[in-house]
Amino acid sequence: KLSARLQLIADWLPTGCRFADIGSDHALLPVAAVRSGRATSAVAGEVNDGPLEAARRQVAEAGEAGRISVRKGDGLAVIAPGEVDAITIAGMGGALITSILDEGQAKLAGVKQLVLQPNVGGEFVRRWLLEHDWYLAEEAILEEDGKIYEVMKAEARPDASERNEELYRERDLAGSSVQLTRELQLMMGPRLTAAPNEVFFAKWESELRKLESIHRSVATSALEASRQKEVELTRLMEQLKEVL
Ligand code: SAM
Repeated sequence: KLSARLQLIADWLPTGCRFADIGSDHALLPVAAVRSGRATSAVAGEVNDGPLEAARRQVAEAGEAGRISVRKGDGLAVIAPGEVDAITIAGMGGALITSILDEGQAKLAGVKQLVLQPNVGGEFVRRWLLEHDWYLAEEAILEEDGKIYEVMKAEARPDASERNEELYRERDLAGSSVQLTRELQLMMGPRLTAAPNEVFFAKWESELRKLESIHRSVATSALEASRQKEVELTRLMEQLKEVL
């Protein structure tokens, strides 16, 4: 059985897709997705030998070597242009995810959907999607084994840019008078802030605690700009607390 995190990613794949799972580790997601019929075939990509072997073993034991191709390589280098219609990248930092997408741009032609799950740095992923005209179709935040995860589904569509403009327009946080600028929405998620749940508040409370401790330890900073950002963020966090 998949973890709730991986299950959500599998559920967001288009039915009958061919997809590549980049950084697949044990290839749990490709195996579950082809077995459930969600995907017809999959590529499991891994750059490191240990996880690559784990993926090979898993796929062989599941008897799925016919439908799942395990390949060694960096990021999207493991797929040919036009080979898959969806890509999943999960369990890495947001900056690594965006560098994989940047370096693999040529392989994205023909890809209809991305499901991305940054462990940290969701902001980088949202910004990349916005700047590259991928429509942020779904977002979720969930807690599992004491960790909080964000999952994003993005779609390639001709009207992605207009839809994103609408999605990221300035508005209040649902149920409050807290103003959400585009920058804040990139940080917190335009869909997550539109329907904030308990996990969302838990995450930002914990971020607030981290920020407060940074403030306490850094009495003076040479970087006036970053200090200014911290001050703004703290102000927002204070407002957020009022909403809890
Ligand atoms: N995707 C699985 C999940 O979400 O449960 C595994 C996540 S695991 C923490 C991250 C995996 O990404 C590691 O197995 C690592 O070897 C792999 N990885 C890191 N950078 C990569 C890259 N540039 N290309 C392919 N795989 C990469």
